Amino acid sequence: MTPEVTVARSLDEALAALARDGAAAHVLAGGTDLMVELRTGRTRPERVVDVWKVGELRGVREENEGLRLGALSTCAELLRDSRVASHAPLLVAACREVGAEQIQARATLGGNLGTASPAADLNPALVALGARVRLRSRRGAREVAVDEFLCGYRKTLRERDELIESVLVPTRPAHERQLWRKVGTRRAQSISKLTVAVALAFEGACVSAVRAAAGSVGPRTLRLATLERELVGRPLSPALCRSAAAACARADITPIDDVRSTALYRRHAFARVLATLLAEPDGVPACPPS
Ligand SMILES: Cc1cc2nc3c(=O)[nH]c(=O)nc-3n(C[C@H](O)[C@H](O)[C@H](O)COP(=O)(O)OP(=O)(O)OC[C@H]3O[C@@H](n4cnc5c(N)ncnc54)[C@H](O)[C@@H]3O)c2cc1C
Repeated sequence: MTPEVTVARSLDEALAALARDGAAAHVLAGGTDLMVELRTGRTRPERVVDVWKVGELRGVREENEGLRLGALSTCAELLRDSRVASHAPLLVAACREVGAEQIQARATLGGNLGTASPAADLNPALVALGARVRLRSRRGAREVAVDEFLCGYRKTLRERDELIESVLVPTRPAHERQLWRKVGTRRAQSISKLTVAVALAFEGACVSAVRAAAGSVGPRTLRLATLERELVGRPLSPALCRSAAAACARADITPIDDVRSTALYRRHAFARVLATLLAEPDGVPACPPS
């Protein structure tokens, strides 16, 4: 059955279409996930609401609490924005490794969150940055931490009448190091075997705060609680990097065998990659936009 498609031209139109009675509508943003689902028949929606032309979901703006990124921000747009580059280099590094340029031109932040794949690359970066997602419906707006929003395998806390409107990346602490690594079969057009994202703040030589997350090593984007506990309050010595990474690989992740890798490889590689990453002196550079 061909779905009924509503092309929304404003936030109000999109929210009205989502609030209609009957079968739940699927939101279409860049279409890089949803079109694949439709073509393979894995998703057969009766109704689709195309939000690509909704201007209110676009753009990046500075707010008192941090940087607000519209849900329709594409990877290509985030890669070009100097505010994102200096505020969230970790997110920029993740965007750079999503698909290839054609995909980056369409793939949106809201779509990565909406699919909630455990292999999504932007979501671990958002969790490590302590980002919050703003949901809008005709009933109002609410904000949820990204790590709560991604609540299960391809599951989110979004209600059927809600749109992902934007994401707030909170203001960063001084002297923060942001770390990112994706392991795939090759550098481009590769779905991850594992990803890891870490944001580390320091007071003197000691780690004062850590947030860390990983992808493709569990049923959803995982927060790395053991790693965070192991590192806080200590100087980041090479021995601590190795022991904390090993403890994290034992306790925080639940990898499986699938078409891209094995559980054994993932757990082993995860510990090695994380230890090496933590020991890197500079983290992701706040590089100029491409
Ligand atoms: C060849 C190829 C390579 C890829 N490589 C990668 C990769 O390396 N890393 C990676 O992470 N992903 C990759 N992807 C997946 C995809 O590009 C990303 O998940 C992308 O961020 C999805 O964004 P989109 O705008 O295209 O989403 P869409 O396909 O439009 O939507 C995806 C889902 O999110 C929902 N949704 C979208 N926007 C909203 C919104 N504002 N509010 C509520 N729900 C919404 C939709 O209903 C749908 O369920 C790849 C895809 C392809 C086809």
